Amino acid sequence: MTASAVFPHNSRSISIPEFHLRSASFLVTAALLNLSSMATGSTIALDVGHSRARPGALSASGVGEFAFNLALATDVTRSLRGVAIKRVGFDGQMRSLTARTAEAEGARLFLSIHHDSVQPQYVPVADQFAGYSLFVSRKNVDPTGSLACARDIADELLALGRRPTLHHAEAIPGENRPLADVRRGIYWFDDLVVLRTAQQPAVLFEAGVIVNPNEEALLANDQSRKAIAGAVARGVTACLSNGAAKQT
Ligand SMILES: [Zn+2]
Repeated sequence: MTASAVFPHNSRSISIPEFHLRSASFLVTAALLNLSSMATGSTIALDVGHSRARPGALSASGVGEFAFNLALATDVTRSLRGVAIKRVGFDGQMRSLTARTAEAEGARLFLSIHHDSVQPQYVPVADQFAGYSLFVSRKNVDPTGSLACARDIADELLALGRRPTLHHAEAIPGENRPLADVRRGIYWFDDLVVLRTAQQPAVLFEAGVIVNPNEEALLANDQSRKAIAGAVARGVTACLSNGAAKQT
């Protein structure tokens, strides 16, 4: 409803309610511009996990994780506005983990995109595992900045209705990861190579559990993938705007 609809006889001059509406909208716009301008001009490194030769986890239907990682990372690049992106591993030819972080030099944030699996003994009941998870390292050059960015990304995923999986915290071989933030599904994974060797805050994102057939269907769906990509992009922008990932 417009102000002139409320005050039909007052349409030639700006009525007081309209003025307030306009000034309020101006302030909101200015605040948003201010936030996004702090992210504008920043560069992040976006890393597609695994490669064509070694595609990572196999989904319930037998698709390699790399294909999921590439599709989601590509959608993240389309969702990020005003942020320059160093594309790492998009060609599927990456052979070493340290080459990934070397390519990220100068970026304010290193974000690695993955899709999740479960330990072999749980594959027959994989449909019981679902949700995203985020990993950060205390051996990174900036653990505080890494955790802050992971929280910003998690908050957007939660707002979207995604839920974290906590199966990486189980005290069994291959898991046993300490939780840095249980509500947001963020774990410490100190020796994860890309997190430890990154020269800037670094976050590894497991978008969902592709060995679960239902979760695979969701993650393979164009609309839901774009929605997740949008949430990740908003989280990254918030993190850059908040100064958690400091300009280098
Ligand atoms: Zn992976």
